[in-house]
Amino acid sequence: MSRYLSERHARLEAYTPGEQPKDRRYIKLNTNESPFPPSPGVQAAVSEEVGRLQLYSDPLCRDLNRKAAEVYGVGEDHILMTNGSDEILQFAFMAFGDKSRPFAFPDLTYGFYSVFADLHGIPYTRVPLREDLGICVEDYDGHHGPIVIANPNAPTGRLLPPDAIDYLVRTHRDAPVIIDEAYIDFGGESAIPLVDRYDNLLVTRTFSKSFSMAGARLGFGIAQPTLIRDLDLMKYSTNPYNVNRMTMAAGVAALRDIDYYRENCRRIMKTRERVAKQLRTMGFFVTDSMANFLFVRHGQVGGEALYHALRARGILVRHFDTPAIRDFNRITVGSDDEMNALLKAITEVLDDKGYPIKENV
Ligand SMILES: *Cc1c(COP(=O)(O)O)cnc(C)c1O
Repeated sequence: MSRYLSERHARLEAYTPGEQPKDRRYIKLNTNESPFPPSPGVQAAVSEEVGRLQLYSDPLCRDLNRKAAEVYGVGEDHILMTNGSDEILQFAFMAFGDKSRPFAFPDLTYGFYSVFADLHGIPYTRVPLREDLGICVEDYDGHHGPIVIANPNAPTGRLLPPDAIDYLVRTHRDAPVIIDEAYIDFGGESAIPLVDRYDNLLVTRTFSKSFSMAGARLGFGIAQPTLIRDLDLMKYSTNPYNVNRMTMAAGVAALRDIDYYRENCRRIMKTRERVAKQLRTMGFFVTDSMANFLFVRHGQVGGEALYHALRARGILVRHFDTPAIRDFNRITVGSDDEMNALLKAITEVLDDKGYPIKENV
């Protein structure tokens, strides 16, 4: 760091994104991207928009809001589009965080929550997960500040049902409750229908996972207009043109082609169930994930050892250097071919390490 870095950022620990190495071709199962390309409609819409790049994008995102309002059954004034859902999450920390109102989120969850809190000087409490790595919403009773829950949670993949979300929002009417639904399209039930009932609920979504658009950076929030206006204040105080023209065109086209993406999600869910079952027969503990990844631990082979052995075989998975989950790896559910290559590599690794698999997989 230079001697010019502001003192308030001197001890800031940034978020570590999953690695994107270029030294060889890898099967990438480490950042929860989709194995499927964007729909043809998206590719055409982006090409067409390139010719208009001399013009700023629409700060009101009108075309995209209109389409999203139709798809998600809410008013256009209930939506705020952002540069990835990371941006709307950051807006929520900026808008609702206060010294006197600490945030609360699970002790094992998306790493960006604590980074945003630290960046903006917002205190927070981490609420421990239960033994089974699930979230128990009653554990948030008595907390008076904003709450952020990823549902399904990352990196566990565990899902809360709508009535648990309803409980959380209903019992914390004095603060916003933010439900991060980055992975909800892989078998979960959304909390969006609750938005009408509660003015303290913000649901965030991303196009990065189920919509095959991680590289486009598009996310959004759905809430009642009062909350949306607070978040809008953050947007207009930082980056009014936060969604660029190509991404906006891609978003509209993706929502038009939603059946294509729904089918992709079904395929990923089917592959997820098959691979989870196979990994269990190979001696892995696998959480009941409702996301596009599996969170796995082998009884004998350590998480880091497995990570390195797979990397040497050209397969990237995500290992977290956090003591509580050091034995785990998070593995994105890719295409069937990619997952077959993974299972084959794991079989070899276990064999090498002296834990051969009895059953044929
Ligand atoms: C991937 C992810 C996001 C953010 O994704 P963007 O690419 O910024 O839209 C948000 N929350 C969770 C839990 C995620 O895994």
